Amino acid sequence: MIKKDSVVSLSYTLKNENGEELDRSDAANPLAYMHGHGQIVPGLENVLEGLATGDKKEVTVAPEEGYGEVQPQLRIKVSRDKFPADAKIEPGMQFSSKMEDGGEIPFTVQAIEGDEVMLDGNHPLAGKTLHFSVEVSEVRPATAEELQHGHVHGAGGHQH
Ligand code: ZN
Repeated sequence: MIKKDSVVSLSYTLKNENGEELDRSDAANPLAYMHGHGQIVPGLENVLEGLATGDKKEVTVAPEEGYGEVQPQLRIKVSRDKFPADAKIEPGMQFSSKMEDGGEIPFTVQAIEGDEVMLDGNHPLAGKTLHFSVEVSEVRPATAEELQHGHVHGAGGHQH
């Protein structure tokens, strides 16, 4: 049964409100995570608590339990000349930017309007309601080493 410190392998399909598939991980290539450590969105993690191998679940996750609401202050305009002159800037490009607090946020280029580049530092799934179909493929206790490292080792996890 899934509880804190369980290592859980999942296959899942993630769709948006319109039923369009955004992401999937099939049974041959499951997602592995350590339960109770905030490694997956809270709305999904909470629902998985108590499930066992072979259990299936349909889960709808609101933005506040998913990737958060869209933060307008992360949508910014930057003058084109802040970028290297020879850099090719195109919509969809991503790069990291240092914030005042020292953290790094990945920004995505939304558009280029004249001399200005429109950037968005929100997670692509921020503000979205997420529909997960999940199947639990394996549940096991974390090893002492995994607990020490704070992540899963082996298939679907870290290889080192
Ligand atoms: Zn490790």
